[in-house]
Amino acid sequence: MTEAPVSKTTRIYEKVVEKLKEEIADGRLLPGDPLPSERQLMETFGVSRSSLREAFRVMELLGLIESIAGKGRFVRQPREIVDDQKKGIQLEDSAILELMEARRILDPAIAGESAMRATPSDLMRLLRVITATEDHLALPRDRAQADFDFHLVLAEATHNFVFVNITRMNFDLILATHDRIYNLLDDKGAFLNEHREMYDAILDHDAERAREAASRHIDRIYRTLHKGIAAGE
Ligand SMILES: [Zn+2]
Repeated sequence: MTEAPVSKTTRIYEKVVEKLKEEIADGRLLPGDPLPSERQLMETFGVSRSSLREAFRVMELLGLIESIAGKGRFVRQPREIVDDQKKGIQLEDSAILELMEARRILDPAIAGESAMRATPSDLMRLLRVITATEDHLALPRDRAQADFDFHLVLAEATHNFVFVNITRMNFDLILATHDRIYNLLDDKGAFLNEHREMYDAILDHDAERAREAASRHIDRIYRTLHKGIAAGE
């Protein structure tokens, strides 16, 4: 009784997200444009207000729209990237790069905290995730999930719920765009080795080394994505 309506709602808001993404991709909605009113969108898509609001929530999380207090919802402006000589960067790619910029600051901090606070059971869970990952490197979807599993256990090892929530939020965006990200990265072995380096440092409770290992990991990811996106891949 409970499951069917839930999955129906899920499909409805996902369809709204898809349609709005299409309108942005086609240029029918341009960066900086206001979205049509809720009433108008409810009529156009034939959906309820709650489905529409859920769609807005997801679009904000994906960095596609933004709410401005007292003004309404707008299509977000993609950020400029320096060496992009050609057409403007896609909004979704801009969101991916902004996320990775934030992770360059956050991830070393999380790794450092984990090194100081990880318990023996955290260490066991980290090792288990790394070992399990070895068999799941072929598909982007699997790499995304394995990456998430590692970074979530890492965040949990800080014993700070804020780091855990931030990590979940980051990976909501990553999992939603995993095809784009993990195809550009195509780094089957590299990320696993980097995770191992982070684990070794945390095992030694060496916060400085853990921070450095996390920096190398996220810097490589950021640089690879930046290069791929700038080259218009
Ligand atoms: Zn990782």
